Amino acid sequence: MNTVTEILYLISAALFILALRWMSQPDTARRAVFAAVTGMVLAVGGTLLQPEIVTYKWIAIAATAGIALGIPLARVPLTAVPERTGLSQAFGGLAAGLVGTAKYYLWLSEGELTHFRMAVVAAEVILGCLTCTGGLMAAGKLAEKITTRPVTYRGQNIVSAALLAVAAVLGVWLAIDPTQSWAFPIIIVLALVFGVLLILPIGGADMPTVISFLNSYAGLSAVMMGFVLESKLLIAAGALDGASGFVLSIIMCKAMNRSVTNVLFGAFGSVQSVTKASEQRAVKSATPTDAAELLANADSVVIIPGYGMAVAQAQHRVRDLYDQLSKRGIDVKFAVHPVAGRMPGHMNVLLAEADIPYDRLVEMDDINPDMGQVGVALVIGANDVVNPAARTDEKSPIYGMPIIDADKAQTVIAIKRSMNPGFAGIDNDLYYAPNTLMLFGDAKQVIGDVVKQLTGEGSAH
Ligand code: NAP
Repeated sequence: MNTVTEILYLISAALFILALRWMSQPDTARRAVFAAVTGMVLAVGGTLLQPEIVTYKWIAIAATAGIALGIPLARVPLTAVPERTGLSQAFGGLAAGLVGTAKYYLWLSEGELTHFRMAVVAAEVILGCLTCTGGLMAAGKLAEKITTRPVTYRGQNIVSAALLAVAAVLGVWLAIDPTQSWAFPIIIVLALVFGVLLILPIGGADMPTVISFLNSYAGLSAVMMGFVLESKLLIAAGALDGASGFVLSIIMCKAMNRSVTNVLFGAFGSVQSVTKASEQRAVKSATPTDAAELLANADSVVIIPGYGMAVAQAQHRVRDLYDQLSKRGIDVKFAVHPVAGRMPGHMNVLLAEADIPYDRLVEMDDINPDMGQVGVALVIGANDVVNPAARTDEKSPIYGMPIIDADKAQTVIAIKRSMNPGFAGIDNDLYYAPNTLMLFGDAKQVIGDVVKQLTGEGSAH
């Protein structure tokens, strides 16, 4: 490796570490993205300078295909980023699997397959292949192209564990005797099938955590690929990816009060059906005028945004509403649930896009003790994250998940289009509570109407 490449690799490794550091704060997050992109450009540039490259033809073809695929993937709406991430992980896993396979047959034909190389290639191929099909399955579930409900059968965990165990045993076998080449394709097939089986029993509501786990598997396969290709940068970048994905998964499990094993093997979401929704219980509905009056007369308002705000792209109207209420001296805060929306930080990004002051955003644990004193809790397209069943109904699939205690506010105004359930597919008692008013309609439209009332065109003051 030439010195320029070494230096470029060193700089990119440092930039990757800094990017992760900066990513943890909203005000430095933009810088983090810039640092990570620069690091990646330097890493690719450094690799292209390697003297071992004899022709650029295949690299140019692969780069063109990658760019052609990457541009449309980069343009998906924010709400589709989780499934896009699943797809990226599938591609990352596929790349690792293909590099491992190519290296295996190359080294085998050249008689250079040492025990160590074989062990690393086997680990890379297993992790890469399972991440590939796992990522595709997760993307399919998040895009609702595959059922979001857990698919379970008797002895599922045993079958899945046995498949992985056989792949691992064959990997060890090959490491002992790398010429037993019949075993290699079997390892690939087992790992690909295991990736599918890993995701099948996991319900849609756990997909964000699973995506994060897959991120760490993809990172680990990149580490193995780094050993195979003798690239220290890949080892470092893969380790960062693997560790950060794992840490994020743990944080998310904690936010949902779930154990890691429960997420991965618990078949979350299989128990419940939407039974209560068909009971046609009565709800009280309000008009934008009623809502404007209630809000204008409140001392304090806590806005709880959820996935519906993202779908409606209502964040700018929410900002107008915030301005109108703040102007009247009303204390307005935003309660942000860690898994509101469809990806970690989803609400933070949308609210920041609308320039809502960051100090108005309060995390769930900090706002909950005060919810009893709040005048109006305005729920905008949030459902699961304010569902009291998580506190009270032991049979509910979301039981134990921490929620924002919207129901404890003096009055609750809930904006959504219908009585349809949220992501977990379950009914929400909050909507039927005596202190709740439903404000039906598209969030952007409805909040726009409420703002109009507040700006003096309507009857509210
Ligand atoms: P949610 O439970 O999915 O509920 C969203 C609500 O928004 C729905 O009930 C829907 O009701 C309403 N809605 C949709 N479009 C709307 C529009 N245009 N205007 C107004 N309302 C609209 O959302 P959440 O409370 O934010 O909870 C997030 C859920 O997603 C959790 O179960 C979480 O585990 C899961 N999840 C989270 C992540 C993450 O990392 N944040 C990722 C994947 C999944 P209508 O159809 O009646 O309008």
